Amino acid sequence: MRYHVKKANILCFLLTFMASLLCFFLFFVFAGFSPANAEFNSTFTPINRDLYHSSTALLEQIKALAHRHPDKLTVETIKTENKGYRAEITVATFCSSSRGSDDRSKFRILISFGQHGRELITSELALRILSILSEEQFLPNTNPTSLNSTLDKLVIKVVPLENLNGRKLVEGGDLCERRNGRGVDLNRNWSVDWGKKEKDFDPNEENPGIAPFSEPETQIMRKLALSFDPHIWVNVHSGMEALFMPYDHRNTTPDGSPSQRMKTLLSELNQVHCHKHCMIGSGGGSVGYLAHGTATDYMYDIVKVPMAFTFEIYGDPTASSKDCFKMFNPVDLAAFNRVLNDWSAAFFTIFKLGPLQLDEVGSKASTANLDKWVSIDEYLDGYLMERRNRYGKKMEVLDLGMQEIRTYFRLFLLSSVLLFIMFCSRISKGKSGRPIVSAIAL
Ligand SMILES: [Zn+2]
Repeated sequence: MRYHVKKANILCFLLTFMASLLCFFLFFVFAGFSPANAEFNSTFTPINRDLYHSSTALLEQIKALAHRHPDKLTVETIKTENKGYRAEITVATFCSSSRGSDDRSKFRILISFGQHGRELITSELALRILSILSEEQFLPNTNPTSLNSTLDKLVIKVVPLENLNGRKLVEGGDLCERRNGRGVDLNRNWSVDWGKKEKDFDPNEENPGIAPFSEPETQIMRKLALSFDPHIWVNVHSGMEALFMPYDHRNTTPDGSPSQRMKTLLSELNQVHCHKHCMIGSGGGSVGYLAHGTATDYMYDIVKVPMAFTFEIYGDPTASSKDCFKMFNPVDLAAFNRVLNDWSAAFFTIFKLGPLQLDEVGSKASTANLDKWVSIDEYLDGYLMERRNRYGKKMEVLDLGMQEIRTYFRLFLLSSVLLFIMFCSRISKGKSGRPIVSAIAL
């Protein structure tokens, strides 16, 4: 009997050892680790402090601008809290005569930047646009008289840094953070199609919060949008170069004339400022993944903003998966200036064409259904780019579902090892005199 117990013990030890080896091997394979890329991932680009302001300095600069140009620019800071979590949002309002900012006959534009913490370049663009509006900086090739006559008809509200708490985390070294200060994605916390999760849902990226508008930042933005009631909304992001219109939660654009006017404006921007290489179309259809509970869908469906957009102003497809600063932001002076020059010019084109577009389309009959406007090629292009753009990770279509498979596989391996250990411990008891059969029989 002892002989059998000993033999079984050795066999069990060998099996456990082999299972552990297999487990470690497969874990590293499935986790995508290898000594080579582990080393690669550890090198990432830090924030270039020569080019980028800190969040505090950026907001101070904007307040100083308003202080120097009280006739054009006013700044307010809106604060709120929820269960001890505090958030504040600074809003700059441009109006060519500050007293006219409540004039409802003016054309109203609301633009938000920095909704995702890691997209620092967007807030730099906000500062650039406000500097041009204050006439401290100038757009090349622009006639100041015609610019002033355009701006006279507008009220522009700029939110330069929607997600200040998330941005502070990024500045503290968490360079890949896109969510707010308590882990909620502010572009999934709105009520249109809220909380729906796609198969590849990753809470580290897209956590929608416990309910629509659970987050103070989203609450402030909703109030601002409902009270200001803009004609144009633009949500400015980075990670790729694209001009999106609704819907994000469906792979179609809305019907009829609203689609037509948005499409016309985006086509113009793509041609003039994007060198025709920006992806355009519905957010859901063009990128290839659906996003639920986004700000732009809410602005279009609920606030009834006639022209609602999401712009993606920069992305580096060559950056490694963990190198978020490089992936979402230009890292050298030339690229930094190019992005700010191109996109500030694009926004001034919107300031000029937006009001005309709305006047013009108002008198036109509803155009054909544009649901199928996004071509299959664009769709497939977007689909192939999907995983990288969404989470900033190098994944392709074949990776769909891999995350789940990995999780199940690890659980399976872990439980196998535990079973072996339990089995061995039962046999060890047999060593103290109990026959092995009794262990099995029990
Ligand atoms: Zn973003």
